Formats: sequence, C-alpha cells, structure tokens
Amino acid sequence: MYTAIPLVHGFPGKSHSHGAFGWSSIWLLRNDERRVLIDAGPPAYISLIHKGLAGVGLTTADITDVVITHLHWDHVGNFTMYPNATTWVGENELAWAATLPAGTAFIPDLHIQELVRRGDHIGRMHPGSEVLPGVNVIASPGHTPGHLAFSAETTTGTYIFAGDAVKNVYELNTLEVDSTMDEAASRRSIQRLKSVLRDTNGLLIPGHDVPLHANGTEFTRIQAQRAHIGFFADDNGEVDRSIAHAEFNCDESEEA
Ligand SMILES: [Zn+2]
Repeated sequence: MYTAIPLVHGFPGKSHSHGAFGWSSIWLLRNDERRVLIDAGPPAYISLIHKGLAGVGLTTADITDVVITHLHWDHVGNFTMYPNATTWVGENELAWAATLPAGTAFIPDLHIQELVRRGDHIGRMHPGSEVLPGVNVIASPGHTPGHLAFSAETTTGTYIFAGDAVKNVYELNTLEVDSTMDEAASRRSIQRLKSVLRDTNGLLIPGHDVPLHANGTEFTRIQAQRAHIGFFADDNGEVDRSIAHAEFNCDESEEA
C-alpha cells in the first residue's frame, strides 16, 4: 500500500502566444520498499522537485522508480536526475518516439536518444501488466500512440494517474480533447479511465490539473486550481506590481 503525495500539481493553462506551458503533474508514491515518481515533469520543475522531495524528507537519491505516462517533453524531462532509480517507459511509446525526426513538436529528441542508448537499463511497460507491486498499467492511446495510465492502491483509496489521456477536468467531463493524435482513441481512453474511476470511487490525477473525483453525475476538482505568474522586473520598483502579476483561479473549483 502506497501513500500518494503531490510534488507539483498540474495546471490546465494554454498559452496563445508562447507555446505550451507544460505545467504537468508529478506525484510520489511511497511505501517501506519504494519511492515511485509518476512522471518526471519539465526541466523548469527541477527546483520544485528538490523542494517537494525535501518536504517529505527525501532526496533524488531516494527515488527507486520513475514511471512515465508518455514521451512529451513536459512529462519525461527530468528522468536523468535520480541516480538510483529505474526509469519505466511504454515499449510501444518509445518505439514510436524513436522514429520521429528531431524537431517534432513536443518530442525532446535528446531525451529519446538517451532512453534508447540506455537499452536494458530502461524498464519497458505493457498495458495490462503490473509495472511495480500495486501499480497497474492501463492502455490509454490517443494523445500519443503508446500513452499509458496507471492505477495504484493507496492508504486513501485508488489513484488513477491519467497523464495526458485526461489533461484536465474539462476533458474528463466532455470527452473533448484539446491535443490528440487520434480523437476516437482518446475518447475511448477517457471512457476507460472514467469507468475505473467510477468502479473504484477513487481519485483521478490528470496530466495538467489537480485531483478529480466523481461528484454526482459530474467530475469535479477536490481542491482549488491556482497558478501565479510574475515578471522578473518585480523587485526593482520600476514596474507597477499590480500589473506585474497574474493570478489564475478557476471559479468552478471546489475548495477542499
Ligand atoms: Zn503530452
């Protein structure tokens, strides 16, 4: 049985001027034997990861496993920073990503090359298997061809780590996905994860949102969704602080 701890909550932001935010979810599953990260996050998260681990008395050396939902830059970015961990990737996902030319959107070419170069030192996952004791692999293609989700039993119930098969609360409720390579497959994947969520009465962790749960016929956030953006110029007194910051709150969130 694991304890589930958020290291960084995902945020469903979409930039219309500067490409993807990439503010993805990173969660820690820990028990006496293992400290497992679900996804590795974007490079911008490095300080947040150190801080999050320190907050629960851990360092990067304590991580035993890094389990990756899919090979986009904002989910696989930091897999190299855990000296004692096994990185786990979907076998089909890596085979697909390895065929893509440098410059493919969202695919970090050097990371993919390094995963291939490490060969047998990288764990390969398959849908329907148990990648680690108590962590089950669920097929969830669409966003990428070999995307995987995971379910895990924790001290507070079943957690379903959806990755970008379900990026946020809107996608879980509407089945309308923003970024997918196969819309029909994405809808089927969301339906599959939705039924696991209903069957277990658990929590679903989206790739870019806070935990979701069934709330009557709807699915809602279990806590508020917030983000904060500032300017580097904040501290020099030349910028009006009232315009140098942006707070994002989502009104439909439920306060925990
Ligand atoms: Zn993605």
